[in-house]
Amino acid sequence: MMTTSERSPYRLDSLAVHAGHDDLGALGVHALPIDLSTTAPLDSIDSGGLAYEALASGSPLSPGMPTVYRRAWNATVARFEGAIAALEQPDGESETVEAVAFASGMAAMAAVLLSRVQAGLPHVVAVRPLYGGTDHLLATGILGTTVTFVDADSVQEAIGPATGLVVVESPANPTLDLLDIRDIARQAGSVPVLVDNTFATPVLQRPLGLGAAFSLHSATKYIGGHGDAMGGVVATRAEYARRLRPIRTITGGVLDPWSAYLLHRGLPTLPLRIRAQQASAARIAEWLAQQIGVSRVFYPGLAECDPRGLVGTQMTGPGAMVAFELAGGFASAERLCARLSLVTHAVSLGGVDTLIQHPAALTHRPVASTAKPGEGIMRLSVGLEDVEDVIADLARGLA
Ligand SMILES: *Cc1c(COP(=O)(O)O)cnc(C)c1O
Repeated sequence: MMTTSERSPYRLDSLAVHAGHDDLGALGVHALPIDLSTTAPLDSIDSGGLAYEALASGSPLSPGMPTVYRRAWNATVARFEGAIAALEQPDGESETVEAVAFASGMAAMAAVLLSRVQAGLPHVVAVRPLYGGTDHLLATGILGTTVTFVDADSVQEAIGPATGLVVVESPANPTLDLLDIRDIARQAGSVPVLVDNTFATPVLQRPLGLGAAFSLHSATKYIGGHGDAMGGVVATRAEYARRLRPIRTITGGVLDPWSAYLLHRGLPTLPLRIRAQQASAARIAEWLAQQIGVSRVFYPGLAECDPRGLVGTQMTGPGAMVAFELAGGFASAERLCARLSLVTHAVSLGGVDTLIQHPAALTHRPVASTAKPGEGIMRLSVGLEDVEDVIADLARGLA
């Protein structure tokens, strides 16, 4: 059972197909197996107790140990974690990356925040914009954290003796703002940086090689890629992974094996999906920029959206998310959504079909009014349809 990434001679596309499949030949199977057991037979009271102790310490379970109980360990979930760890492993780094999976992206975020509260460092420095759920979790402080929201240039000044985490997204939800992750890590000094890597995926960006301590994904989005499985995953180094696993067991935000299987099944096509969806997104962003009803387009592939030149250096490509502002504001947004037929009006993103939504009303509804996206802003997750059909649909909506 591979639980951590081993140094691999293979490139990303090969890893995406094969990571987490290493032992299948020995098991005599070809497709990913699913273990649905909620409990595991014990050889003796002692061996059960030893496994229990190992799990409570947060270390990955050694092969041959009883898994005890699904909330503490599951082989299908561990297999998926091994694959994500392999994809997030920075080139040339000797320390092995691990991954810890959760029931959702928000369960993953909550566990990281709780681990910092548990370390006695409950203050968080965060750079907006962030996904609305993350913004809400931080602003309400329901997990015992406090937060200071700052500009990307003021992270260092905001750090105090109780600061346990810096939280950023790049590209950020919903307006695709790019942050220089190396510069954020430099400002953070010894404080760990969490990068929400949901929009980039490991195909376009590996934050742990840029100085981040945590790379977090809503796996519900691109990793699963088909809009039918929910999960979250955090790639990090052993020191932090050991603290996250017991929190997951104690609080119960575990990924179920069916979802782990579906998320893992999404990985082989992830690089292809990202590249195809990205090519369409670039074409759509250029087209949108020429439409009279569109006052602004947000896409990292447009020069004005990437003044620091991070696409091609920090990220290998601009991704497949596009945002744009309608000159007619909310009324135009309402009309656009009502007229679309190929594009689905729905929250979420990263799937094979194109989705559009109004962040201020939906994904970013709980965000403070001073930080909320504008009423004319729409967020588009570009899918795998023929791009000309998507453009024709948008053209009808904008007419
Ligand atoms: C959706 C999303 C989340 C939350 O993930 P869930 O799987 O819905 O809990 C976190 N961050 C970003 C950037 C997201 O888009």
